[in-house]
Amino acid sequence: MDGSVDLVERLRATCGAQHVLTDHNQLRTYESDGLLQYRELPAVAVLPGSGAEVAEVVRACHAAGVPWVARGSGSGLSGGALPVADGVLVILSRLRRIVEIDLDNQRVVCEPGVTNLAISAAVGPSHFFPPDPSSQVVCSIGGNVAENSGGAHCFKYGFTTNYVCGLEVVLADGSVVQLGGKELDRPGYDLHGVFVGSEGTLGIATAITVRVVPAPESVRTLVAFFETPGRAGRAVSEIVAAGVVPGAIEMMDRLTIDASEQMAHAGWPEDAGAALLVELDGPERECDARFAEVCKLCEDAGATGVVVARDGAQRDVFWKMRKAAFPAMGRISPHYYVQDSVIPRTRLPEVLDRIDALSREYGLPVGNVFHAGDGNLHPLVCYDGHTPGEAERAEELAGQIVLACVEAGGSITGEHGVGIDKKRYMPKMFAEPDLAAFQKLRCAFDPDGLANPGKVMPTPRLCGEVPGPYRQHPLEAAGLAERF
Ligand SMILES: Cc1cc2nc3c(=O)[nH]c(=O)nc-3n(C[C@H](O)[C@H](O)[C@H](O)COP(=O)(O)OP(=O)(O)OC[C@H]3O[C@@H](n4cnc5c(N)ncnc54)[C@H](O)[C@@H]3O)c2cc1C
Repeated sequence: MDGSVDLVERLRATCGAQHVLTDHNQLRTYESDGLLQYRELPAVAVLPGSGAEVAEVVRACHAAGVPWVARGSGSGLSGGALPVADGVLVILSRLRRIVEIDLDNQRVVCEPGVTNLAISAAVGPSHFFPPDPSSQVVCSIGGNVAENSGGAHCFKYGFTTNYVCGLEVVLADGSVVQLGGKELDRPGYDLHGVFVGSEGTLGIATAITVRVVPAPESVRTLVAFFETPGRAGRAVSEIVAAGVVPGAIEMMDRLTIDASEQMAHAGWPEDAGAALLVELDGPERECDARFAEVCKLCEDAGATGVVVARDGAQRDVFWKMRKAAFPAMGRISPHYYVQDSVIPRTRLPEVLDRIDALSREYGLPVGNVFHAGDGNLHPLVCYDGHTPGEAERAEELAGQIVLACVEAGGSITGEHGVGIDKKRYMPKMFAEPDLAAFQKLRCAFDPDGLANPGKVMPTPRLCGEVPGPYRQHPLEAAGLAERF
């Protein structure tokens, strides 16, 4: 890092020496995010205490020409918050204030380090913040915005992007801009919409205005067991085709049930090949009527058993089973690789068969737990990293699963983002002109390429670089537009 001494001094003067880390052992805490397969040490990690300090840190990096990476809670699963060697890691965990709660207008303004669950806790029990990643106890709203995170209730309620109205953003030159506001739809370009899901490549969100919604009057939850995930998949299609919009509809296969049992002890049947967790919420009478319909649809689709949560405590156990699925996998496999892809819901049975065939071909178990309503799969590829070559085989298998999902008309990521892990697959989904358009957008926010470089785009380009030979556009020829 050129000019590092000056930069470090400037960061210390801005944030206080105790909030600027350069010691190797302290930096190791931040060498990866939730995707442990990638590791890198930053030159410096800094923990600003306010939006103004974030802006000053970014200004200092800009002046020194040093790249930086924003980090929320570091729970990301695509390597988005992986530090850049020789760069600065800007950790936002000290920015934890909920600045304003306006329940009459259903708005909350908060700093980026506030955890997802803390927002619902602050507005409950009358209201809640619907996007609910399974990591919601730890993940930050800044990270949710950057990844456009989803969760179990997104089938009915939508993703983070559907709840963010306004953002205060520090751009890569340290200037501060306001994108959107408290209104649902401001005039002009939807720039906060552009920022949501930009994975830390367009700037740092330092204040976030979100919409919260009234809590439903009633919630009913059941778990239905099936012989195979394919049969459970058919039940999902039947439920959706009947016009029911469940608050959540989640599936777990045998391997993930086995893993979660070790943490949640729900006592689910040992012979079930798949469990379908269905939750309806809304007005009590509607909920009750449709719930009976869902139970019948599951039975007609071949459920071997249906258990209805008798009270809040049993509902919590059902959800613990689902939300424990990722961490619990560590109890049955020394290592695992989390995949995140999307397929059209109707292709579930055939893609699950393909995953099963790949699992056998590579000789590695794959657990499946997913947001069934959205067709958002989370295959968990189990391996033992101590066995030579097994980590590489797991990564290759995970890649084959991504490709199978794309071939089925799906997407390389549903909610975990592209980060460093999936950028090689971007050309499978986007043609060169699309990628060039993305790069231009990125350059408009960050012409020097200092914000989270090396992420999302498969082949980073500098601003102004256009792929292919120059061809004059007819609008240019007519003098109506010019290149910039
Ligand atoms: C057990 C487990 C379960 C999970 N379940 C889900 C799930 O159900 N749904 C889901 O969507 N995800 C899930 N995730 C993934 C992860 O929790 C989400 O992506 C989350 O939004 C990341 O938040 P974070 O604060 O940890 O962000 P980080 O990992 O710190 O960062 C993620 C990205 O956001 C950027 N960033 C962070 N803060 C800011 C900011 N203020 N401004 C600009 N950029 C910023 C970073 O540069 C990085 O690119 C899960 C992860 C784990 C470990």
